[in-house]
Parts: sequence; C-alpha cells; structure tokens
Amino acid sequence: MSAALAEVQARIAAAAHAASRDPAAVTLVAVSKTHGADRVEELLRAGQRVFGENRVQEAQAKFPELKTRYPDLELHLIGPLQTNKARDAVALFDVIESVDRPKLASELSREMAKQGKRPACFVQINTGEEEQKAGIAPGEADAFIRACIEEHKLPVVGVMCIPPADEEPALHFALLAKIAQRNGLKQISMGMSADYETAVRFGATHVRVGSALFGARGVAA
Ligand SMILES: *Cc1c(COP(=O)(O)O)cnc(C)c1O
Repeated sequence: MSAALAEVQARIAAAAHAASRDPAAVTLVAVSKTHGADRVEELLRAGQRVFGENRVQEAQAKFPELKTRYPDLELHLIGPLQTNKARDAVALFDVIESVDRPKLASELSREMAKQGKRPACFVQINTGEEEQKAGIAPGEADAFIRACIEEHKLPVVGVMCIPPADEEPALHFALLAKIAQRNGLKQISMGMSADYETAVRFGATHVRVGSALFGARGVAA
C-alpha cells in the first residue's frame, strides 16, 4: 500500500520534471471510494493527506472520525452532487470538485452562507459532451463559471473533467487546461490511474488516483 503510494508519487514527480513543472504543484487526491476507513488510514500513516470520495453518504460513514484524528486531512467530493445533499456536502468536504449546474451552485451558495463554511469549488466540465455524464458543456463553461463566481459568490478555484473512457485523454486534458486558463482559474483536476502522467504533462494540479493506490474495486464501483 505505501509502496503503491511511493510509486505513484515517483511517477507524478517524473512526469512533472519531464514537463518542466514543479512536482510540488501537483496534488495527489487518493480516491478511496468503496474502500474502508482502515485502508484510508494505512495511507494516512504513510503521509497521504488528500482524499477523494464520490458519494456523500459513503464519505460520511468513513471520514468524520478520521478527520478528528488527522485534522490536516483534506477531503474532496469528486462525484455528482444531488441538490438535497448540498448541506451535508458543505458540512463534510473541504473541496467540492463537481459543481456542474446553476441549481446546485445556488444551493451550495445558500448552504455556505448558512454554515459559515466555504469549501473550495471546482466546476466540472463534460469535455466529451457525453449524454450520461455530469458536467457543464464546454461551450457553456465560461458563462457558468462567471455566474458561479459573480452571481452565486462561490469560491471557484478550478475546473475538473472525466474524459470519455474510449477516447484519447490528452485532447480532453488540453481542452480543460484551455478553459481554466481563459477563465483565470489556477487549479485543474484531471487524470486517473490510467492517465495521470499524461494529465500532469498537460498541466494538472490535481490528479485523482484510486485503483493504482488501493487496488481494483469491486464490480459495484
Ligand atoms: C473513481 C474515480 C476516480 C479514480 O479512478 P481510478 O481509475 O480508480 O484511478 C477518479 N475520478 C473520479 C471522478 C472517480 O469517480
């Protein structure tokens, strides 16, 4: 487990160096969905502090207790967020990577004001314009990002994407980097176990890696 962590860290560093980037500018988000708190804690003991979960309820079952023992643990929501879970998401997560529609933006804004807590937000872009996938279409991204910041007053720091499984990810990474740049956003969350080195080459500041760290997930994932 910590060997897998060391290997992923080394690969990120090598990819960063090859692209003349500072490895410290790339944050590894360890995606722990479907894995128990004991597996998360193994990585915590090895020094990993940033984790990603795609379901609010699953994260609620695992992380509050870990967070009390590791106060510098940073938890990212990386999966689709239902509006009626916005309250729980604001309460638990430090970063919400999946802001993808006006109704959710407005609900998050309300909850942040109510709770006096402002988790950093990423706008999720559906770079492949896939029907079944969450995210705002690339053509609507600039207007939506502006609305999130100006109208909803959300602390938007970056953009996130999940490229189509059967396409060359580099094209999607390049598109996402361009959207970030033209909107003045510094953070770019892209790249998973199969393609995080490519993502680093294209400017990822956050790579979301699950199976390369934890091993394969069950079929339900
Ligand atoms: C599960 C998941 C990942 C990690 O996928 P792996 O291929 O296991 O690295 C990354 N991002 C999102 C949004 C996910 O749901």
